[in-house]
Amino acid sequence: MKKWKWKKYKDINYIGVDDWHKAGINMAFSSRAEGVSGGPYSSLNLGLHVGDQRESVLDNRCRCMEVFGTKLDSMVSCQQVHGNRVAVVFGEDAACGARDLESALEGYDAMISNTPGLVLATFYADCLPIIFCDPQKRVVGVAHSGWKGTMGKIGINAICEMGKHFSSEPSDIEVFIGPGIGECCFEVQEDLAFKVNRHFAQIDGIINFRENKYFWDLRLTNIKMLISCGIQPTNIINCDLCTSCLKDLFYSYRRDNGITGRMGAFIGLR
Ligand SMILES: [Zn+2]
Repeated sequence: MKKWKWKKYKDINYIGVDDWHKAGINMAFSSRAEGVSGGPYSSLNLGLHVGDQRESVLDNRCRCMEVFGTKLDSMVSCQQVHGNRVAVVFGEDAACGARDLESALEGYDAMISNTPGLVLATFYADCLPIIFCDPQKRVVGVAHSGWKGTMGKIGINAICEMGKHFSSEPSDIEVFIGPGIGECCFEVQEDLAFKVNRHFAQIDGIINFRENKYFWDLRLTNIKMLISCGIQPTNIINCDLCTSCLKDLFYSYRRDNGITGRMGAFIGLR
């Protein structure tokens, strides 16, 4: 089974998968360390919409692109509206959302592409990043799967679109699920807990009850969902780190009461 590990380029620490790198696929999930932002955004904040200074964010984004030996203009990002729509992106979409929010692909939370040189970028503070690569058909993708995206089954939508547009077979698709809020910290209200159990009636063990509280295992929900649509369990690389527990490494929207930065998930074909 393929594994993730912490890697370093200059000052930037990031999570990557060596086997993907060897296969010509660039992938990184950033931490919050070694950037230029201050205050609650300290320090490698990549989110333009969180109240941080724009120049700092662009500086941080450029540093992340250096990991891939590329420039900010090869980045494409989408608006991330907690929906479940998947954009198919091509060379002409390069630089969309790289320097401003306005040009980010409107209304999308996932992107797929087979264009070498493009870097698909999405940003996180608790939501789960689901990163896809099909080494056979040379296709990559990413889905921003928070609780709303999970309810909307955005991971399944991304796999379906990879099949529809690029003939990817689910059995060939490899998936990296990055850091996100863990079951340890993701307490939900009773009404949502019941709704989740009804919505995913075929999946056991995703809502746990302890000390009179309900906890939702978002990661397990997404993993089971991916397997149900044909992803091989051995093709899932599960980076089971909790953004809320690991204060020095990650931003957490919930832990930081909404005032915080964003990590980045990046995937692209060389
Ligand atoms: Zn936790």
